[in-house]
Amino acid sequence: MTLPVEQHQFTDEKILVASHNPGKVREIQDLLRPFDVVAISAAELGLEAPEETGRTFTENALIKAYAAAKQCGFASLSDDSGLCVEALDGEPGIHSARWAGAERDFNLAMAKVHAELEKTGTDNRRAYFVCALCLVWPEGKAETFEGRVYGTLIWPPRGDNGFGYDPMFVPEGHHITFGEMEPDKKHAMSHRARAFEQLIDACFKEFK
Ligand code: IMP
Repeated sequence: MTLPVEQHQFTDEKILVASHNPGKVREIQDLLRPFDVVAISAAELGLEAPEETGRTFTENALIKAYAAAKQCGFASLSDDSGLCVEALDGEPGIHSARWAGAERDFNLAMAKVHAELEKTGTDNRRAYFVCALCLVWPEGKAETFEGRVYGTLIWPPRGDNGFGYDPMFVPEGHHITFGEMEPDKKHAMSHRARAFEQLIDACFKEFK
């Protein structure tokens, strides 16, 4: 017989959003808005970002949340995410931010994805976003969740909403890119929203 595993409950008044990416912080703060919790960003506290040396999204999310919780002394929520392109064997994947170079230029990163796809000569434009969310408490407890959203890549990119690779990603069942979508609509279906839903179900029972 296996007993159901009770996940650690979040009961605090504040949470640290362990990211230095303003697009991600904005989306996570939006997702946390319905809950009675103050979401403070890593940049607001001047926290240092650790080196992302993991081999998976979840490993990198754990590295970021542990580093943040240790520095700030309260529960920290991290997000490691990226775009996986089927015809590129899952790249850029965990290297999604790095493809944008030191300047974090996502026009450049999107052009690189497009150029790499052209080189393969394939018609397969399928891709998916992955988001690993990790909630870590300073004493070391941790919970992790993963969400995905599937879609196709278009060229040229369209739309100024969102961030990163959003302007070239059309989610399955839709005709517009995440870059053209209203934020609320993206939040209802994104990889981040799907991981977030699991986090809320598992760890935010006190808030429901
Ligand atoms: P990291 O998780 O900080 O290593 O960076 C993940 C990178 O993946 C971001 O800088 C974006 O380029 C990309 N990414 C993650 N989530 C999204 C999204 O919702 N839309 C577009 N790009 C994303």
